[in-house]
Amino acid sequence: MERRSFLKKAGATGLAAAAVSAPALAADGPTIRWRLASSFPKSLDTIYGAAEVLSKRVAEITGGKFQIRVFAGGEIVPGTQVLDAVQNGTVECGHSASYYYVGKNKAFAFDTSIPFGLTSRQQNAWMYYGGGMKLMREFFAQYNIVNFPGGNTGTQMGGWFRNEVKSLADLKGLKMRIPGLGGEIMARLGAVPQTIAGGDIYPALEKGTIDATEWVGPYDDEKLGFYKVAKHYYYPGFWEPGPLLSFYVSSKEWAKLPKEYQAAFEAAAAEANVLMQAEYDAKNPQALVSLLQKGVKLHKYPVDILKAAQKEAFALYEEEAAKNPAFKKIYTEWKKFRTLQHGWFNLAEATLENFMYSNRK
Ligand code: CA
Repeated sequence: MERRSFLKKAGATGLAAAAVSAPALAADGPTIRWRLASSFPKSLDTIYGAAEVLSKRVAEITGGKFQIRVFAGGEIVPGTQVLDAVQNGTVECGHSASYYYVGKNKAFAFDTSIPFGLTSRQQNAWMYYGGGMKLMREFFAQYNIVNFPGGNTGTQMGGWFRNEVKSLADLKGLKMRIPGLGGEIMARLGAVPQTIAGGDIYPALEKGTIDATEWVGPYDDEKLGFYKVAKHYYYPGFWEPGPLLSFYVSSKEWAKLPKEYQAAFEAAAAEANVLMQAEYDAKNPQALVSLLQKGVKLHKYPVDILKAAQKEAFALYEEEAAKNPAFKKIYTEWKKFRTLQHGWFNLAEATLENFMYSNRK
């Protein structure tokens, strides 16, 4: 209503008349069709859905002129090759988790989440206002990619175990499906990390080929049914405090877009980023209640495991920084930001949340 009355008043001065006669945003814009390769299957509706939010919004804002068609993981390229597909121009854009590409350079992990790193809100703060986006864009430029934050799951759960893990000693020889840097840290603690694709985890856990697996959180984990064969559900997933998904755009294609389409993409990506976290935050608590009704046993990771894991994580970062200049550059800035964030988040928010939970009505 306020906007209408503003326009009415402005009309008297001729301002609105000029605005009305100007062409609608994209009426004269070119028709552009892109393909987006997602790393994710449609069954992960919350994560896969972020690319659909982007696609729908970009089309709406541009009056249907800028169309982005979303393809699930495996339809154009395998889910773990989305970065390569955008880099080499197979597709114009993608949606992925940058830590899938730590084999190319461990610095990719900062774009997503690193063990004992930033939570979802802290990661957004770092990316949008803490210098993270500038650092990551410089890094991604080497791959001819412009990156955009594109959703977050929030702090993940610590996985499903067939048997209880009571102390660090119980990790020795334990076969756990846990990819990436989390897997490297688990290996340093004596476990045997495995990389297994989503659809193959359940049978491996059922047969006892693996003793434990991590996945995401209650909403996604319940769908895969791990609770049927491993009742012990641990928290927190210290290797994924706030994993951020990313949209990748080919820098060549980005440069060709009209400014208005770039703005539409940027706004739609930011919307997708906010909505994914909100959806998880709305759905995870209900799924947790449902899992507990099915007899799932919740356990906090023993403190000796958390302490040893954090020590190994930072030892790994220092070792990597000593030999990888790209990692060192990002890590140095990231670490300063992280320290300040913990000083803040542990104060008002954590105190209030803990009080409200301990004294719940
Ligand atoms: Ca995970």
